[in-house]
Amino acid sequence: MSMEGSLTARDRVGIQDFVLLDAYTSETAFMDNLRKRFNENLIYTYIGTLLVSVNPYKELGIYTKKQMDIYMGVNFFELPPHIFALADNVYRTMISETNNHFILISGESGAGKTEASKKVLQFYAVCCPSTRLLDNVRDRLLLSNPVLEAFGNAKTLKNDNSSRFGKYMDIQFDHQGAAVGGHVLSYLLEKSRVVHQNHGERNFHIFYQLVEGGEDELLRWLGLERNCQNYRFLIQGECAKVSSINDKSDWKTVQKALTIIEFSEKDIEHLFAILASVLHLGNVQFGASALGYVLSTDTSIKFSNNYALELLGIPSNMLREGLTHRKIEAKAEEVLSPFTAEHAKYARDALAKAIYGRTFSWLVNKINESLANKDSTRKTVIGLLDIYGFEVFDVNSFEQFCINFCNEKLQQLFIQLTLKSEQEEYEMEGIEWEPVPYFNNKIICDLVEEKHRGIISILDEECLRPGEATDFTFLEKLEEKMCGHPHFVTHKLADQKTRKTLERGDFRLLHYAGEVTYSAAGKLFNVATQFKSSLSGLTEILMTKEPWYVRCLKPNHCKQPDRFDDVMVRHQVKYLGLMEHLRVRRAGFAYRRRYEVFLKRYKALCPDTWPHWKGTPAEGVQRLIKHLGYKPDEYKIGRTKIFIRHPRTLFATEDAFEIC
Ligand code: ADP
Ligand code: MG
Repeated sequence: MSMEGSLTARDRVGIQDFVLLDAYTSETAFMDNLRKRFNENLIYTYIGTLLVSVNPYKELGIYTKKQMDIYMGVNFFELPPHIFALADNVYRTMISETNNHFILISGESGAGKTEASKKVLQFYAVCCPSTRLLDNVRDRLLLSNPVLEAFGNAKTLKNDNSSRFGKYMDIQFDHQGAAVGGHVLSYLLEKSRVVHQNHGERNFHIFYQLVEGGEDELLRWLGLERNCQNYRFLIQGECAKVSSINDKSDWKTVQKALTIIEFSEKDIEHLFAILASVLHLGNVQFGASALGYVLSTDTSIKFSNNYALELLGIPSNMLREGLTHRKIEAKAEEVLSPFTAEHAKYARDALAKAIYGRTFSWLVNKINESLANKDSTRKTVIGLLDIYGFEVFDVNSFEQFCINFCNEKLQQLFIQLTLKSEQEEYEMEGIEWEPVPYFNNKIICDLVEEKHRGIISILDEECLRPGEATDFTFLEKLEEKMCGHPHFVTHKLADQKTRKTLERGDFRLLHYAGEVTYSAAGKLFNVATQFKSSLSGLTEILMTKEPWYVRCLKPNHCKQPDRFDDVMVRHQVKYLGLMEHLRVRRAGFAYRRRYEVFLKRYKALCPDTWPHWKGTPAEGVQRLIKHLGYKPDEYKIGRTKIFIRHPRTLFATEDAFEIC
């Protein structure tokens, strides 16, 4: 029996499902409930089947094997909300309906998305049936995480273990429900981090792990010294050491994981040779001549040593030439024209980024080979999407533009699927309903991605005019095409008041989650189209599956336990669309339960149904609610479920249940 059913308990620990909140439309009531629960270390709350989670920033001891056992196979609403309850519910729905699902985990950086996705994966690894053969698959599924995190995560100001790529992972199950394989898709790795880190931030974990944890012999072979301070690419944030991170022991974990995922010794050797070459490249210096050009003589370009070249397997003169000269084709002749020192540095950084980016893709491919299920019988899958949340910085560049566009698309999907599934359910159950008005962000998605007219198309056109196009002409074109668009503004297009807040080289988008000002300067280049198509691919993958949502909230900026910053949380509640979701859930019928489930829970409340009901569950439920005195407008009888309009009806039933 739920501890949270009685009135006093409810006062103290709040309500475990926002749908049951009396003043459900009020944001204040929503916040009160969230805060109350957070203060009692209850970090999870439902909105129907959506799970809201607030990062506790402390160990709560709620992810043990014992907890997993408690949640395994138990009805979703019978126990306090938990990520395991959601994982279990998705899993059992998949088994009983033999269809595909995905869990979308969203929230801003540091809100707990990656931890949540790991908990789901662990739950499946531990709880699903298995054989000795499959243990192997489970280990690999679990161990793909530390590898991807080592190469794709980094310490940022917001999170000591921030994922710098978006991740979608399919877990495949056979008809008996055993995990038999997996597949990972990665999105938009933040490559710029390889060559530059802001103050207080680090490069990707793996570099520090290598330098701190790599065996003496390995370092010697790679020509590396055991001192991060010696490598330019590692120290720009001035925090190579982080108290919450143990690079040495993480190195060991990654080594072990690589072996279990079946990377060969050669693969591993190459992998570290490439990492080392990136570090060496970072230390390459360029000497400038009096005219500002890079001199191509050996004395003017200093490699810290020749390791960068050797490790990459490139003849040394080729790399040297490539980094310091531009090749121009003139009259069927190739002419080498020297770079300025500035250009040479740019070329060096571009090379380092490209090398790392490709290595990451290669790594993901290797992991996929190892997770691939060889047997061709039909599988069902649960997809886990751990994707960067909406980002707003002081200066927002191309990367933020892509990340925020991605969130815009996922919000669009959320709207489509939530409303669609809601409508379909009413239809299937033969129940009439009136749709609720909501803000449809399609207009913003179109603004960015529409063919011939969207921002990305315009960017593409500009990229086809090398030499002529500049940041300035790009902005001018945007202004010409987007003039009057309610979600787009620039210095020129703005009214007087807004103009003061905009620089001339900026454009501002009014996203569904808030305003963001982007700098058109420099960084905009042609990968936008590629990103757009990989996002369309993702949307297609998701559209065919049944959605489940985990919305992660960050309680404070200081990564500290027991601190609930009202303003900050309220903002997230707003832009994650939680109130809207609640309204949609409540607009028709707040609660729906399958007859069997409803009867099982409440049958003790009616002498006719207790202890055993002989008829059909639907008849039993009708007998039960008649006995409880439900009024005709309070509920509807669907084909397989009872629909209850107001939560207070269910409350009364819960309270009666509590007393009985
Ligand atoms: P995100 O992926 O959303 O950026 P993470 O999942 O990496 O955030 O979480 C950031 C940090 O917050 C974690 O490293 C961990 O210290 C803490 N954290 C997140 N979720 C939990 C949780 N459920 N319990 C305890 N600590 C958590
Ligand atoms: Mg993360």
